[in-house]
Amino acid sequence: MDFTILTLFPELITSFFEHGMISRGIEKGLIKGHCINIRDFSCNRHNTVDDRPYGGGSGMVMKPEPLQAAILHAKKKAPASQVVLMTPQGTRFSQEKAFELASGNEGLIFVCGRYEGIDERVYTTLIDEEISIGDYVMTGGELASMVIIDSIARLIPGVLGSCESWQSDSFTDDRLEYAQYTRPEEFEGLKVPEVLLSGNHEKIRLWRKSSSLQRTFLKRPDLLQKGKLDVEEKKILKQWGQELENLVRE
Ligand code: SAM
Repeated sequence: MDFTILTLFPELITSFFEHGMISRGIEKGLIKGHCINIRDFSCNRHNTVDDRPYGGGSGMVMKPEPLQAAILHAKKKAPASQVVLMTPQGTRFSQEKAFELASGNEGLIFVCGRYEGIDERVYTTLIDEEISIGDYVMTGGELASMVIIDSIARLIPGVLGSCESWQSDSFTDDRLEYAQYTRPEEFEGLKVPEVLLSGNHEKIRLWRKSSSLQRTFLKRPDLLQKGKLDVEEKKILKQWGQELENLVRE
């Protein structure tokens, strides 16, 4: 999958493509990462990319011409890519959206705004989709684009390596992930649950399912409203109900 970021601050992006899972994905040829400096497409002597807003008011607005030229340049290099604008006014990003973008696209071109944002006419003519990473306003779209690329890239087969650990990640199937432990077996007087040391894969699977359900119930009960309970989860809940009843009776 091809990721292109259009930005006024390419230095913010370069090290992102050069480290960790993203750089390994690039080395394996599973993803590509490009960064384009919007300022390179400025058509005036002073390389300006922003101007005062019509109608007055504070701040500056990104001019349409350099943005248009940068987007068209990116599209020429990756014609099948969708153009995604980073904006607090867009659709809220989620794990579900990450799956959708990871599976339905050959490439994505991220447009990062700065200042008060971009000229409205760019939205109407060149942008396929608007995405926000949450209901707050940042100074630029660079962090947002890296958040989105990071979460999409790890879903692309082969990027995480053989284990593909995203399959049990939080938000997959509307559940939070189960509790995780590593060595030592005892830490600050707290022991690793015995079942995890048993080597019994079926028991471990069921324990993890129960842990995942418990965490979702306590931390994000809203997720349980979204996805249906499966047969095993219903059984686990009935068991908890029974245990609670016994407690009350004692
Ligand atoms: N004046 C704009 C508004 O109120 O909608 C906000 C502009 S913001 C200061 C500058 C740029 O940061 C935006 O154009 C966008 O690219 C990026 N940005 C800020 N918050 C964001 C968010 N929550 N999600 C995605 N991008 C964001």
